[in-house]
Amino acid sequence: MKMPMRGSRRLVESCTPFKIKDVVAAGLHDGSGALCLEKGPAGLDFSVVIEGHGTYLDLTLYTGWGDERQRIELSKTPAHFGGSRYWLHCPRCSARGAVLYLVKSFACRKCHELRYTAQFESPRERMRRRLLKIRELIGSDLVIENPLNPPPKGMSVRKWERLLDEYEEVLEAYRRELRQTRAWRNDAPSTRRSPANQAVHPEGRMGP
Ligand SMILES: [Zn+2]
Repeated sequence: MKMPMRGSRRLVESCTPFKIKDVVAAGLHDGSGALCLEKGPAGLDFSVVIEGHGTYLDLTLYTGWGDERQRIELSKTPAHFGGSRYWLHCPRCSARGAVLYLVKSFACRKCHELRYTAQFESPRERMRRRLLKIRELIGSDLVIENPLNPPPKGMSVRKWERLLDEYEEVLEAYRRELRQTRAWRNDAPSTRRSPANQAVHPEGRMGP
């Protein structure tokens, strides 16, 4: 029986992250191809070969204790400035996210029971703080579910898009945390609940 001991849990920062960004950069999301995570200084103590098959990835983990295989499903949602945003699904719980962690095998932060260094601040608080920070950088109001502004004067479209991308990613995780907290506490349903995959940006924000 595993006890979720707060103090003994592994730190997120000490695990090798596996990001959807890298999958997309390697082109594994829309065809074949392979990516190799080399054993090395990034905290990885064995090699992993990742084969892309379009809608899923097949991973081979060359561990010292025998080769292991894992399959990671991919999905996509429409991105705010056209195109698609891709997601990794945790092989254990199927939750979608932008990053999985390697602790002997790949899974999400929840499944690995990873904790953050800043344990005094809950993940939810930290995400909330980051969302508000991005809103502030873009010059939007500080209501998390409101649409974001076009790029403010002095900010490149590229940077703005990067912030929007991050916003969408964090918002997705933030909403998931909120839903879970609600489920644990068996709270009455909130009247401000938003659909999980609601677009961050209503159309027309860019203007003509
Ligand atoms: Zn999981």
